[in-house]
Amino acid sequence: MSGFFSSKYASLTPYIPGEQPQDKTYIKLNTNESPFPPAPGVARAAAEEAERQQLYSDPTAGKLIRALSEVLGVGEDEIICGNGSDEILHFLFMAYCDKTHPALFPDITYGFYKVFADVCGVPWEEKPLNEDFTVNVDDYIGEKKTVFIANPNAPTGIALSRSEVERIVAGNPDNIVVIDEAYVDFGGESAVPLISRYPNLVVTQTFSKSRSLAGGRLGIGIACPERIAELSALRYSTNPYNVNRMTMASGIAALRREAYTKKNCEEIIRIREETKQALLSLGFYLTDSSANFLFAAHPDIGGGDLYRRLKEKGVLVRHFDTPRICDFVRITVGSREDMAVFLTKTNEILEEIK
Ligand SMILES: *Cc1c(COP(=O)(O)O)cnc(C)c1O
Repeated sequence: MSGFFSSKYASLTPYIPGEQPQDKTYIKLNTNESPFPPAPGVARAAAEEAERQQLYSDPTAGKLIRALSEVLGVGEDEIICGNGSDEILHFLFMAYCDKTHPALFPDITYGFYKVFADVCGVPWEEKPLNEDFTVNVDDYIGEKKTVFIANPNAPTGIALSRSEVERIVAGNPDNIVVIDEAYVDFGGESAVPLISRYPNLVVTQTFSKSRSLAGGRLGIGIACPERIAELSALRYSTNPYNVNRMTMASGIAALRREAYTKKNCEEIIRIREETKQALLSLGFYLTDSSANFLFAAHPDIGGGDLYRRLKEKGVLVRHFDTPRICDFVRITVGSREDMAVFLTKTNEILEEIK
C-alpha cells in the first residue's frame, strides 16, 4: 500500500464477492441471484426514470417507503431504504458498534459482517455454530454485545424460528440485535412483527434475491421510529441520494406485483426440494435450507475440488476455503433447466473420480 493510504486500514481484508465472470457464459449458481427476471412493469418504470436522470432522486424515498409500509404492515417512520441491504448493515455497524459494544455473530455466517466491523474499527467476536451448523441461541444472551444474525443463515440456509429470534432480542434489552432477513421469503419466519415491542431490534431485508433486483441495489431496514431516525442521520451524513431514480421506480413497480414474487419464491422452494432429493440420492449430505440455495458436501470429493471441476464444465457454485466448511459447496437454486445441467455435471464428476 502507498504511504497515502490511512494506516487505520493497513490490515483491512476486503470482502470478496462471488465471481461475476464476464469472459464466458456459465450456469451461474454462485451468488444467490434469482433465475427469474424482475416483475412485469419494472423494466419500463426504470426506463422512464432514466429519462429524468438530470434530477437527483428523492432523498426521502417517499413513494417507495409508502409502498413498503403497505406491503410490510409497518409505519412509514419504521423503514429506511439503502443501496442494497449491505449499505444498511454498514450503517448498523457505524451506529451501534464501538469499543463498549463489540459486534457478535456466528463463526459461519455472511462474510461481510467482519469486514464492516473492521472498516468501522470496532472489535468483533464470533460464536461457533453447533456441530450441525445450527445457532445456539444461549450464546447470544447476556453477552452485552451488538448481535448480528442472518436468518435464514448463510451459507447454511438454516433458519431460527420467530420464537428463538424473540428469545435473543428479549435477552438483550441493552443491546441492539440485527436480524438480516436477506433470504426470509424462501421459507423463514420474519421478525418484523416484533419491532413494535422491541426498540433494540433492527431487521434488514433486500430486493436482491426474492424480488430479482440484485443489480438494482435496494435494501431496507425496519425498526422502531427512534432507530430509523438514528440510521437516517447516518444516511444523510454519507449519501442522501443513496437510492437512485431507476432503482426507486423499480422497487415501487416490484411491490405492485407481490403475487409475482410469491409465485417465484414458491417455484424456487419446489426446485430446491427436488434438487435436494437428487443430491441426497447421489450421496451428498445437506443442511436443512430455508433459503434459495443448498449447502452440500460429498464424502468422496472436497468442496474446492467439486467447485473447480464444475467450473471447468461451465457451472459456477460457491466454495468457501475456510476451516469448518471447506468440504461444502453452496449451490444457488436456479431454473429447473439449470439445475438439471448442474445435476448431470455433478453426476459426471462423481463417475470420473471413482
Ligand atoms: C445477499 C445478502 C445480503 C445483501 O444483499 P444486498 O444485495 O446488499 O441487499 C445481506 N445479507 C446476506 C446474508 C446476504 O446473503
